[in-house]
Amino acid sequence: MALKRERSEQLFEQAQQLFPGGVNSPVRAFRSVGGTPLFFARGEGAEVIDADGNRFIDLCHSWGPLILGHAHQAVVEAITRTAAKGSTFGAPTEEENMLASFVMERIPFIERMRFVSSGTEAVMSAIRLARGATKRDLIIKFDGCYHGHFDSLLVNAGSGLATFGTSSSAGVPEALAQLTMVVPLNDEEALEAAFAKHGGRIAGAIIEPVPANNGLLLQDKSFLLKLRELCTKHGSVLIFDEVISGFRVGFAGSFCTYGITPDLATYGKIIGGGMPVGAYGGRHDLMKHIAPEGNVYQAGTLSGNPVAMAAGLAQVSECAKGGFYMELERKTASLCNSVNAHAKSKGYDYHIDHLGSIFWGFFARGEHIQRADAIDPASMKSYAKLHAALLERGVYAAPSGYEVGFISTAHTDEHIARVADTFCSALDEVI
Ligand SMILES: *Cc1c(COP(=O)(O)O)cnc(C)c1O
Repeated sequence: MALKRERSEQLFEQAQQLFPGGVNSPVRAFRSVGGTPLFFARGEGAEVIDADGNRFIDLCHSWGPLILGHAHQAVVEAITRTAAKGSTFGAPTEEENMLASFVMERIPFIERMRFVSSGTEAVMSAIRLARGATKRDLIIKFDGCYHGHFDSLLVNAGSGLATFGTSSSAGVPEALAQLTMVVPLNDEEALEAAFAKHGGRIAGAIIEPVPANNGLLLQDKSFLLKLRELCTKHGSVLIFDEVISGFRVGFAGSFCTYGITPDLATYGKIIGGGMPVGAYGGRHDLMKHIAPEGNVYQAGTLSGNPVAMAAGLAQVSECAKGGFYMELERKTASLCNSVNAHAKSKGYDYHIDHLGSIFWGFFARGEHIQRADAIDPASMKSYAKLHAALLERGVYAAPSGYEVGFISTAHTDEHIARVADTFCSALDEVI
């Protein structure tokens, strides 16, 4: 039974005359799973309806922002109410204060923050701040962490320990890539070596404390503690990129999981309630370097946009309610446990790992993968088959095996049970 795809295919054909590769962000193009992307027409809670009228249970949820599901009533109401009063002023509005104070009351290490319009922009600003405040140039990043498309972080590991990176995108000058060191995840020795060699020149280290953009590579707490200790010792700024984990694995993101305090943190996705919002913040003695208080320049015409702020406040207000994260974890664990039990009983080399409501399945033996180079690229062929089998059965998973899935509060227990059954029968088909 082939899915009806005529309308999506027509739209994609048209889009290819409009956008490079037919898309406005590369992974949407379905290149890693094959076939043409579905064009979505509508979202209703945990479900999406495509241009051909097919209905799917959505496990992608716009890559993370929609922790309440699609078109949540409180968020829609906040957007329409605020937009009706004027969508942008380029001047301060009370909505900015409201979202910031709501967040800062609940994440104690944010003493000052600033809103921007995307996760990339938040990361770019935090890196500039780290460099400006320390008057140093070098940055450490970790292999397998994604921080958006900022030049300094589009860098691959060089060869050997504690060496500088090479740019991973055309258009990023090697001279800039040379200022970024790329260290493997969960490898204390490599981290020690990088700081030992360049310590006094390192402006900052940036990490996804819950790496969730290249599989879900959960780190040992001891590794994150070592990173905290080395940054403190060498006067380097520790930046936690919580664009995906913030308000997701707990209200205060990875702080809820590990209790480790960064110097700066970056946010995006959930904080905007589905509107384009990013944010960064942290210690006041660092944030005071940002213009106009200090001399690190950073600005934005639509920064702190009132409609986006209202959407974000409506969403995070729901997240702050009692039991919110426990309930998400319960549902996610139930999905993972069912699928893992089935895979185990059949002897499949397939496992779903999860933290809170982020989950990631991989075709390999074992229960965790912690480093990017431990993911077998050949396993992505199996993912492409699984993805197609899920689509045919009415479940929309991310169109790449390196991407995680998300459970939202809109997924009912019945959705979870259906997704679990669907996964099991899809695995039976593809393995
Ligand atoms: C999504 C993401 C980004 C980039 O955010 P955009 O809003 O897509 O620019 C940066 N860092 C992490 C950890 C992310 O998950």
